[in-house]
Amino acid sequence: MPTETRSSTTAERLYYDSPILEFTAHITDIHLVAKEPNAPADSAQLWQIALDRTAFYPEGGGQPCDIGLLIATAPSGTTLEIPVERVEEDEAGEVWHYVRKPLTSGTSISGAVDPDRRTDHEQQHSGQHLLSAVFLRELNARTVSFHLGADSSTIDLALPEGTDRISDDGLRHVEESANRIIYENRPLITHLVERPLAEQMLARGDLRKLPPLEGPFRIVQMQGIEFNACGGTHVRSTGEIGSILLRRVEKVRSGWRIEFVCGLRAIRSARAPTPCADSVRSRAPRPAKRSITSRTRASSSPCATSSPSGTRRRVSRAPSPSWTRPRKTRRAIFCCSRSSPSWISCARAASAPPTPPSCLSVSTGA
Ligand SMILES: [Zn+2]
Repeated sequence: MPTETRSSTTAERLYYDSPILEFTAHITDIHLVAKEPNAPADSAQLWQIALDRTAFYPEGGGQPCDIGLLIATAPSGTTLEIPVERVEEDEAGEVWHYVRKPLTSGTSISGAVDPDRRTDHEQQHSGQHLLSAVFLRELNARTVSFHLGADSSTIDLALPEGTDRISDDGLRHVEESANRIIYENRPLITHLVERPLAEQMLARGDLRKLPPLEGPFRIVQMQGIEFNACGGTHVRSTGEIGSILLRRVEKVRSGWRIEFVCGLRAIRSARAPTPCADSVRSRAPRPAKRSITSRTRASSSPCATSSPSGTRRRVSRAPSPSWTRPRKTRRAIFCCSRSSPSWISCARAASAPPTPPSCLSVSTGA
């Protein structure tokens, strides 16, 4: 994660001021970086463009880049909208916008960052800061890496010595604590801090780590929760994270990997068709008897769902009895009943108190 501010010879970074998504700028440099003779004319060339100022966040620190449009206006008033496919920062600190059409250096342009993608990334990234802080505070589990994916995000945790797993109660406690802090709507504030002061913050324990850079450093403060040296884009208060939903935990080489979703991703995740339905459709060879008894049992099962024919059935197979992803299994299925126990596998759900179900499916990619 680039946490330093850059010299004035590179683009002014407007994304440090999160709300700015539309801006004007001048093109300072342009290069042809790829030519594909067999591709259609509108995608045969790939150009990289540098600007004197930009609101496009370049990929880095576990966070994907912004995308959007560069808009050039001719003297006649005709506008040319060029999609920005990706944005990267080079080692010299220059931000490059990758496009399929060339523009002349010195041209004045307007830029427009995709607002939905930006908001989503802010929710996931700020949610990660919050989740990592709560795992550290509640379970003394330190985050060693972060990945923001297209569908979900992960943090890898190093557990304290002598601890070999995270209990379901611990996971539930962390999730609920994090969501309470979201409801408290605490401000997120950024500060630019010179290295000596940053080192003092490190010595006091206010910062967990400091990159080996000269500085100044951009410190993201979640009021009353943590300080974090971070160059990413963030929400303005914890309430904008919306919600945090933990989806899976698995053992990996570097520790324990927690998969989570925030904001609208959590809503979509809760709204997604239940894997229990898929499981029943693909695995159950016989339709359930349409008796009063079977309907009663099915409706009280956390994994009960409707078959294509409308007959209610209950899931009889459970891939795993815990949060941990089963090895050599392509799909791990976890059910999330909204009363205690909170996250339980289908097997445990079958014996749990009857509650309205909500099931999540996670593709293991194995
Ligand atoms: Zn960060």
